[in-house]
Amino acid sequence: MTNLSDSVQYVKGVGPKRVRILNRLGIETIEDLLHYFPRTHSDRSHPKPIVRLLDGEYATIKGVIKARSIIRPRKGLDIIKVAIDDGTEIAYADWYNQSYLMEYLKEGTKIAISGTIEKKYKKTEIKNFAYEIIEEGKELLNTLRIVPVYNLTEGINQKYSRTIVKRVLDEYAASLPEFLPPDIRKRNKLIKISRAINSIHFPQSSASYKDARRRLVFEEFFLLQLGIALRKRKIEEVGKGIRYRKPGELIGRFSQLLPFELTSAQRRVISEITSDMQQDKPMNRLLQGDVGSGKTVVAVYALLKAIEDGYQGAIMAPTEILAQQHYLTLQELLIPLKIRIELLIGSMGEKEKEGIRKTVEEGKVDIIIGTHTLVQEAAAFAKLGLIIIDEQHKFGVLQRATLRKKGLNPDVLVMTATPIPRTLALTVYGDLNISVLDEMPPGRKGTTTYWVPQSQRKNIYLFIENEIKKGRQAYIVYPLVSESEKATSSVPHRRGGMEELKAATEMQKHLQKEVFPKLKVGLIHGQMPGDEKEKIMTDFKNKKLDILVSTTVIEVGIDISNASIMLIEDAQRFGLAQLHQLRGRIGRGEYQSYCLMFAVPRTFESKKRIKVMTETGDGFQIAEEDLELRGPGEYFGTKQHGMPELKIANLLRDQRLLETARQEAFAFIKKDPKLENPEHRLIRKSLLLKFKGGLEIS
Ligand code: ADP
Ligand code: MG
Repeated sequence: MTNLSDSVQYVKGVGPKRVRILNRLGIETIEDLLHYFPRTHSDRSHPKPIVRLLDGEYATIKGVIKARSIIRPRKGLDIIKVAIDDGTEIAYADWYNQSYLMEYLKEGTKIAISGTIEKKYKKTEIKNFAYEIIEEGKELLNTLRIVPVYNLTEGINQKYSRTIVKRVLDEYAASLPEFLPPDIRKRNKLIKISRAINSIHFPQSSASYKDARRRLVFEEFFLLQLGIALRKRKIEEVGKGIRYRKPGELIGRFSQLLPFELTSAQRRVISEITSDMQQDKPMNRLLQGDVGSGKTVVAVYALLKAIEDGYQGAIMAPTEILAQQHYLTLQELLIPLKIRIELLIGSMGEKEKEGIRKTVEEGKVDIIIGTHTLVQEAAAFAKLGLIIIDEQHKFGVLQRATLRKKGLNPDVLVMTATPIPRTLALTVYGDLNISVLDEMPPGRKGTTTYWVPQSQRKNIYLFIENEIKKGRQAYIVYPLVSESEKATSSVPHRRGGMEELKAATEMQKHLQKEVFPKLKVGLIHGQMPGDEKEKIMTDFKNKKLDILVSTTVIEVGIDISNASIMLIEDAQRFGLAQLHQLRGRIGRGEYQSYCLMFAVPRTFESKKRIKVMTETGDGFQIAEEDLELRGPGEYFGTKQHGMPELKIANLLRDQRLLETARQEAFAFIKKDPKLENPEHRLIRKSLLLKFKGGLEIS
């Protein structure tokens, strides 16, 4: 007797070759096959009278074979031609190179066919069809019902998938253990797992499909939220965190030094953070704020609070440039307060790094700023109290855990400029508390965005030159670093390579020589060594450069408020979130800013991206659009966050079910915090399976 966790090789009809193919689709066990949910369904349940068929439509017909013949128009090709009569009219179908079917397609045989109708000279033909011979007592899988359509790969087709799925359904679905507690099922009107699994593949009606999907979506969200609830509990329970005292003299002095007034959003968020830090469980908070909303100052308040109590703070940035920039900004703000700040990044010399690590270890540093190296190179801290993670989407939950293991039990503040739609916030960041900076500092002129045609290139250059004469600076952004990268680019060069992608390096030379000979044009890209990047950024900041040609290394966090123009080349090649981040580099000061995009969008998605950019500057709206265009998996690389992939639930469409499942899950964990109740054994098992080691339950 086989059981659910056995290999698919035990399923009749699955040989060693097919096992390998199924494995490629992520199907290893019989249970996996049951959870190989169809991509969509095709409703073939209502046959249509042949006489009423329309040219071009997809339809199902049911009739009797009236006549058949086989012809051999040339060597290597034979065609069976069949006429089907349903009492209203005749329709014709052809089978190519399957002469062995002559035996089955006999006159008088009952047959059902679903396919595309072609009407020619009053003759009705059916093409690209699925068919089935109707016999007493035989269950049809491919037509005359709502039929599942699966994601395939080479070596298996729909017919085969349906056959083996049906086989395991018949044998195993009834024995699928129900793990959702009866009260939860009852409260939320969820059908049983065995029925749900049957109907998700072969639903009797669209209503039964809906019930099945609802049950499975709930289950998926419920398990996800259970995992999140457990993580959250674990974080809050790991010993005691630091209970900081009320803000004191240091913060008072800083507030006086600050050259501007905090926005009310900043004040609110600072008080949320302060109150977290004053509790004895460790802070675990996400700070969301669109580019330019002023997250850095908020971070400084949190840092000072830690320092005031004798602790150290760490800032982790996603890139060296950003780490360097934070370093410069914080120095400017905090040197008057005699706060000791150090930078630790990968491109520094080994000796230098060693020296800095030592001072951190000895407690001679208050704030250490770095990239992932902080985590990877095992920085030891004398008294780590607070970790600030900037631009979280580049970090995973797991890295956070590593860092946590090093410190005492530090508070964690995660900052992100990528606005996160609520559904994602509840999943990817479901174990964090969330603060939102939803107000921009005053006095911003803002950015106007245009999609400009190539024919305007000369005028655009003139415009840029003019703005620079007025004292401004400009970014010109390219999607690639050098011409040689084109070879590995995934973007097809259609129109015989007419779409020349201008690489940053080549363009910088061209712009400097031919276009802006009187201006200073600099270049920055990701492959440059760290100190070189730093020098260029500093030069740009100090206005030694007028124009900075760059790749997306300037994407996040760079803050040069005098730069008010951004020209983006081949904008169709950037993602929406990326374009928004890029644009966030301008419009940061008192000057009216302009974002100009050259773009040749060819797909629906790229057109939509460009359009959205010109229509809104609202990060949340852009995030929603982006999520819609890309889907959640890609949007946030959920895997990277130690979250299981969603197999059936849709974060956009199933928001309400997500909220209910979350409530149920959190209530559940409250009652059984460690899943120790023997009745919850199955939940525990499913949960561990789902999170594949990304979850510790103890
Ligand atoms: P981001 O949220 O993108 O990290 P920053 O913290 O870099 O934003 O802030 C963007 C700019 O706005 C900085 O130059 C900063 O000094 C300035 N800023 C921040 N808060 C205020 C405020 N309340 N009033 C005026 N300017 C502010
Ligand atoms: Mg920032």
